[in-house]
Amino acid sequence: MAVYDPKSMKAEDFINDEEILATLEYAEANKNNAELIDEILEKARPVKTENGCTCAGLTHREASVLLATELPDKIEKMYEIAEEIKLAFYGNRIVLFAPLYLSNYCVNGCLYCPYHLKNKHIARKKLTQEEVRKEVIALQDMGHKRLAIEAGEDPVNNPIEYILDCINTIYGVHHKNGDIRRVNVNIAATTVENYRKLKEAGIGTYILFQETYHKKGYEELHPTGPKHDYAYHTEAMDRAMEGGIDDVGLGVLFGLEKYKYEFAGLLMHAEHLEAVHGVGPHTISVPRVKKADDIDPDMFDNGISDEIFTKIAACIRLAVPYTGMIISTRETAAVREKLLRVGISQVSGGSRTSVGGYAEEERPHDTEQFDVSDQRTLDEVVSWLMDSGHIPSFCTACYRAGRTGDRFMSLCKSGQILNCCHPNALMTLAEYLEDYASPDTKEKGYRMIEEELKKIPSEKVRTVAEENIAAIRSSDRRDFRF
Ligand code: SAM
Repeated sequence: MAVYDPKSMKAEDFINDEEILATLEYAEANKNNAELIDEILEKARPVKTENGCTCAGLTHREASVLLATELPDKIEKMYEIAEEIKLAFYGNRIVLFAPLYLSNYCVNGCLYCPYHLKNKHIARKKLTQEEVRKEVIALQDMGHKRLAIEAGEDPVNNPIEYILDCINTIYGVHHKNGDIRRVNVNIAATTVENYRKLKEAGIGTYILFQETYHKKGYEELHPTGPKHDYAYHTEAMDRAMEGGIDDVGLGVLFGLEKYKYEFAGLLMHAEHLEAVHGVGPHTISVPRVKKADDIDPDMFDNGISDEIFTKIAACIRLAVPYTGMIISTRETAAVREKLLRVGISQVSGGSRTSVGGYAEEERPHDTEQFDVSDQRTLDEVVSWLMDSGHIPSFCTACYRAGRTGDRFMSLCKSGQILNCCHPNALMTLAEYLEDYASPDTKEKGYRMIEEELKKIPSEKVRTVAEENIAAIRSSDRRDFRF
């Protein structure tokens, strides 16, 4: 019988059903226990240290109590602390990225995904290397520096060699002043050997959504294909780490199963990675299931309201303060704005979810993975972020300087963010403004840079950042970083 053990390498022990059910019972019993909730909130609050700030985080049980609470003043406090944590560790910077769909060939039978094998009316497409180049040029022309590549699972059409070729092609395209400097990878669970190859190809984060932590639900939602194997999928991050990838990204597809169960499972997964590998997930994504070809989200009766969605994001922020949080264009601008306040640190912009979609003038729908709710251009997203006081950042410095895994977490905790990430964000924003922005965005951006430069504590760093930004404005010199 499975017994709860965060250090076990077996999925059913570290995502233990009994422990999740006991957690949900405990959370329900304590959801109006104001004294306990205050204690938990106090534990989550950032504490100033000699050279920065530290945060204790929360266990899955503590965070589940917060998620269950319906006391309005406690929920308000939760949002305040979530914003405090976010500002302490991520400041007002928001990192931008775009997904790049390589192939929608897939042998799985996922009930929520239009790429499922039995869907005969979606056009199947796989990019050639020449088409990958075209997509990357279109993405560089928008101003992107960071991509997340996406593909269905198909060992014949999309073998690992194909994915590796694509990564190689992407890193090799240098169009005008453009560059893709970080390629994150969202492909199906694979072997240690393949993860090692991805690591050698220079990927950033390996992202794999769990979809659902509920084993029975998982098996029903994935009736056929290799993805049916719950343990193989759930243990993938351990294999990725064994293969040398130390930035991994977790996620749940909210709407498939009950959110409180998913939330506890997600945090237990993070605790497991921390317990076994000494470092938690680099990012957590919070996608919600969307309408798509052959898919009606109403088929799944666990959809969540925007209010609950916001509460989930805030509770994740409190529980794992050093983990980046990602929201995609599955969500509307209004929902994205709400979630930015409570902890999101990365957003996608100008996304197309169709294979080959960026090279097309018109947004194509025939191979799209799901409906995109936020259809604004990258320039509009950049401008909107600045309007709400956020610095749009195209920074990829940490990973390129080897600050991955626990080394990134140390930087987060060290208080050096204002002397490092902040100027990096401003320099990469200047690159964007100079090379890709509309006149209005450019003007707004330089005004923001001027104000934000003043916040850099070290005079030396500030001077270098100012000099670099001046060089970006007056020449083709690019890619400065601390
Ligand atoms: N095929 C890969 C795998 O098996 O993990 C991942 C690539 S898939 C293109 C990326 C993610 O899209 C999936 O993990 C799933 O969570 C999400 N997705 C699939 N169908 C969706 C839908 N209808 N609405 C929103 N997200 C969806």
